[in-house]
Amino acid sequence: MPELPETETIARELDRCLAGRRLDDVRLTRRDIVHGDPRPLSRTLPGRRVERVHRRGKRIILELQPAAQLIFHLGMSGRLSVCPRSQSIEPHTHLRIAIARTARELRFIDPRRFGGVWCLCGGKRHCGRPLAELGLEPLEMTPTHFGRILSRKRQIKALLLDQQTIAGLGNIYCDEALHTARLHPVTRADTLDSDQAGRLFRAIRSTLRKAIQHKGSTLKDYRRPDGQAGGFQKFHRVYDREGQPCRTCSGAIVRCIAAGRSTFYCPVCQPVGKVVRS
Ligand SMILES: [Zn+2]
Repeated sequence: MPELPETETIARELDRCLAGRRLDDVRLTRRDIVHGDPRPLSRTLPGRRVERVHRRGKRIILELQPAAQLIFHLGMSGRLSVCPRSQSIEPHTHLRIAIARTARELRFIDPRRFGGVWCLCGGKRHCGRPLAELGLEPLEMTPTHFGRILSRKRQIKALLLDQQTIAGLGNIYCDEALHTARLHPVTRADTLDSDQAGRLFRAIRSTLRKAIQHKGSTLKDYRRPDGQAGGFQKFHRVYDREGQPCRTCSGAIVRCIAAGRSTFYCPVCQPVGKVVRS
């Protein structure tokens, strides 16, 4: 599932392809990927100019003029691709938006259909509020904000995965940051001392920044808009490395279930503190 570094990479690369361009014909082949009324897509998008493309949490936002927003959520397996219109259409391509005065188009491909798209314009609320309930941006939060989050009596991994608390972290980058901070994933958040909280704050930000530099992690579905893979998977410390040696102590990485998700950690570097089970 694309997390913050993958979404940031996609948004930056789409911005380079689309900013200043006008959108043209819309071809929607699965209406159920659109939240709200799908008709505004073909009515609203053609002729609008893309001002910029950016990210909030794991959502990708195209800011359009005259004022409108086209917002994508990639879910488990969603991808956004910019390619020639003549390129063969792969299965599960649900939406194609031509880019005016070019021979290219933007495609939304999503085999498992946990992703979706919102088109917001004219202040109408028929499409829901896709950005309203997202928590703090981890690269913008202050240590004080983060300290407030950690005061909760919740398992640290579950807390970091909660998009209404911190927006953008998923399974990969939670595990990576917890290993860097030397914290066990089931530690209770409110038991961290200030040294541990500081380590985790810095680890989250350094992990995300490094992953963005390497254009995200490609394990299964994630691809950049030009079809290339990300490169950060080569630097994973624990994620998807069960049985392989810890990069710090050489002990074997262990997999368990925490917060209902496969969780990877080093039992030597990340000793169990005070734990909670949910
Ligand atoms: Zn270790």
